[in-house]
Amino acid sequence: MSDTSFDLIVIGAGPGGYVAAIRAAQLGMKACVVEKAHLGGICLNWGCIPTKALLRSAEVFRLMQHADSFGLASPNPAFDLAKVVARSRAVAAQLQAGVKHLLKKNKVTVVEGHGKLAGKGKVAVDNGPTLTAPHIIIATGARARVIPGLEPDGDLVWTYKEAMTPKGFPKSLIVVGSGAIGIEFASFYQALGCQVTVIEMMDRVLPVEDEEISALARKAFEQQDMKILTSASVKGLKKDKDQVTVSVEAGGKTSEIVAQRVLVAVGVSPNIENLGLEESGVKLEKGRINTDAMMRTNVPGIYAIGDVTAPPWLAHKASHEGVICVEAIKGLNPHALHPRSIPGCTYAHPQVASVGLTEKMAREAGHEVKVGRFPAMGNGKAIALGETEGLVKTIFDAKSGELLGAHMIGPEVTEMIQGYCIARTLETTEAELMQTVFPHPTVSEMMHEAVLDAWGRAIHF
Ligand SMILES: Cc1cc2nc3c(=O)[nH]c(=O)nc-3n(C[C@H](O)[C@H](O)[C@H](O)COP(=O)(O)OP(=O)(O)OC[C@H]3O[C@@H](n4cnc5c(N)ncnc54)[C@H](O)[C@@H]3O)c2cc1C
Repeated sequence: MSDTSFDLIVIGAGPGGYVAAIRAAQLGMKACVVEKAHLGGICLNWGCIPTKALLRSAEVFRLMQHADSFGLASPNPAFDLAKVVARSRAVAAQLQAGVKHLLKKNKVTVVEGHGKLAGKGKVAVDNGPTLTAPHIIIATGARARVIPGLEPDGDLVWTYKEAMTPKGFPKSLIVVGSGAIGIEFASFYQALGCQVTVIEMMDRVLPVEDEEISALARKAFEQQDMKILTSASVKGLKKDKDQVTVSVEAGGKTSEIVAQRVLVAVGVSPNIENLGLEESGVKLEKGRINTDAMMRTNVPGIYAIGDVTAPPWLAHKASHEGVICVEAIKGLNPHALHPRSIPGCTYAHPQVASVGLTEKMAREAGHEVKVGRFPAMGNGKAIALGETEGLVKTIFDAKSGELLGAHMIGPEVTEMIQGYCIARTLETTEAELMQTVFPHPTVSEMMHEAVLDAWGRAIHF
């Protein structure tokens, strides 16, 4: 490699790193990205995208099973697991190739290998050159969190990687953790006929969501025969040839659950090891890199973005931080990312999506609130789709009309939430949202009605 001097080096080419590198190139910087595994990071290869491909297969399978209700025939629906997984891998591969193309098009240099800080303005690459740049962004992401006693073994005890590429279809699966990742896999496996048991330490599933939405999600999952244990913790695990026995403590009692496989989905651990952080003096907090609003660490010239920093650990947050970081380096004075304006989505059946404060948080923050609700049962398009399970809930500040939060469960809500995200960015009040014309018939009309309802004006319910 002849040229090793850059304006910016990014370590890690996930949705944080590759987006930062492309934005830097757009701004005229000579950018380089160092990647030790796959372009696109966890998101494209092992996270967001391949899971959605799997869930799409589950969705089609579910529709085939209900073909009769649409006046169609689909006798004995079946699936070929190897083909379902192969489709998901092909989707990931297509997007990985897309990132390669985008980096090339933007003239970003890609260096393969493990990158490590190696003194001021230097990055050493394993078996490769030492690169130099005045600005270095750490975008090394995170990996599945391991808890003692539940160490993944690649066979009986899974992380998301094994759950995404199963060698055989388990008849039963225990999912430990009911955040978005755990619930998406629970939904996928349950839809294809596996008996899924979810074990959650908190008192509800999807614990970061609004309590009402969590409760509706639980009800919907249980109606699909998913077993859910909340306020429950795993106390031990015993492995046999092709099954696992998990002891669970809940409500003061310990019971044993037997399943063919266990998926541990209890969050992620930022990748901070072997990066030369300590030697460079970069401050860590709770096992992740500490940054300010412009993604600067405490060491001038070193920045961090995405999953290696504070939660929420989401791809769109990583990308946004990448853009903010680079624009700040260029002196463009970007807006800081407001944590409460980052939407969160769970692509289970039914889908869940939210942005901003939950009702409880809003009340605890001292807001006098107006809450609006609209059920999918009152929406024409939802009825036509045969998807009448759902609710849109809005939370407004009663005095100012500010949209404090929006919470949804039901069909297409992961696509719709951005409407409320735009509203929050534009700092609209209920008045502009009420004035907005929503197309008919769409599920999005629920969003309008949920705003109207907060002011006692809902028409269709
Ligand atoms: C199963 C699953 C489903 C998910 N679904 C969603 C979803 O639907 N929506 C969503 O927003 N988020 C989702 N996520 C989270 C999302 O994948 C992450 O938030 C996102 O990938 C973080 O991006 P990042 O760029 O910070 O890190 P990563 O995507 O983790 O990328 C980091 C990259 O850095 C590389 N790297 C690490 N160390 C080094 C080094 N020393 N040298 C060189 N390269 C290095 C890694 O190989 C990796 O490619 C999901 C995650 C999982 C596991």
